[in-house]
Amino acid sequence: MADVHDKETRSYNMSRIKGKDTKPELLVRKFLFANGFRYKLHDKNLPGKPDIVLPKYKTVIFVQGCFWHGHDNCKYASVPKTRTEWWLNKINGNKQKDIINIRKLSLAGWKVICIFECSLKKNNKDKSLTNIINRLNKISNVKRNKKLK
Ligand SMILES: [Zn+2]
Repeated sequence: MADVHDKETRSYNMSRIKGKDTKPELLVRKFLFANGFRYKLHDKNLPGKPDIVLPKYKTVIFVQGCFWHGHDNCKYASVPKTRTEWWLNKINGNKQKDIINIRKLSLAGWKVICIFECSLKKNNKDKSLTNIINRLNKISNVKRNKKLK
C-alpha cells in the first residue's frame, strides 16, 4: 500500500491528539442526546475509560482516532515515513490495549461499540450514526424480552 501522504492528510494525522472531547466524539454525543439517549462520559472506573457510557443499555462507545488506533486499510492510519518503527510500536501498543479493554468490558457484561472517526466524515456520517441507534435499539429490545420471560 502506498504510504505517501498528501499534505492535508499528514497535518490531519498530526493534529490528532489523543484526548477527550474530540470533534467526532462530540458529533456522536450530540446525535445521541438529540435522539433521547442519556450517557456518562469518560468513566474512569471502566477499562479503557470509554468515551461514552450508556448505563441503561449496559453499552459503551469508543470513538477511535484512525491514526492512533491503527485503523486497518484506512487512509488516515498510514504510518509516518520518519521514525516509522517508533510509530508502529506506539500504534500497535494502542491496538493491543484496545483489544484487552474490549475483552475486559465484555467479560463484565458490557456491549462495546467502536466507531472510527473516518466513518464519521461527511459521506458516511449519517449512516454510521443511524447504525449506532439501531444497535442500541436492538440491545434494549433484547433486554426487554429477557425481563418479560
Ligand atoms: Zn479509519
